[in-house]
Amino acid sequence: MANERTLSILKPDATKRNITGKVNAKFEAAGLRIVGQKRVFLSRREAEQFYAVHKARPFFGELVDFMISGPVVVQVLEGPNAVAKNREVMGATDPSKADAGTIRKEFALSIGENTVHGSDSLENAKNEIAFFFSECEIVG
Ligand code: ADP
Ligand code: MG
Repeated sequence: MANERTLSILKPDATKRNITGKVNAKFEAAGLRIVGQKRVFLSRREAEQFYAVHKARPFFGELVDFMISGPVVVQVLEGPNAVAKNREVMGATDPSKADAGTIRKEFALSIGENTVHGSDSLENAKNEIAFFFSECEIVG
């Protein structure tokens, strides 16, 4: 399995409830290493840019409002098959459909306030990591 990096975001519902450590424990238990991490407050422009792929979706406005409703923690996770592994640990977008033991099953409040973002392909992971991190902020 190839060693990969993926972009993760602990969303405002996680920072608000002070459960970032609990979520990070899930990543680490799954063999993912947090090799870059910072707490940031996204501007509306940054959130719109980051989620530009969803611009035409009916939930876009709600999603952007939520992502700027509090601080987030942006992270680079590293490990074997990190992109798919992280999606597995996150669970389905809708927490009511997420498997037992996943982050979203345990912590998400709703389909919108679902605690974590994770890149969905290696190519998107590269672009999303570059959106938030410079190379010297990632220490493997
Ligand atoms: P994922 O985060 O699992 O990759 P998507 O890329 O489809 O899911 O959607 C991005 C984010 O938009 C979701 O994580 C969630 O916060 C929000 N979202 C998705 N679908 C809905 C919906 N039907 N209603 C409200 N928010 C949604
Ligand atoms: Mg997605």
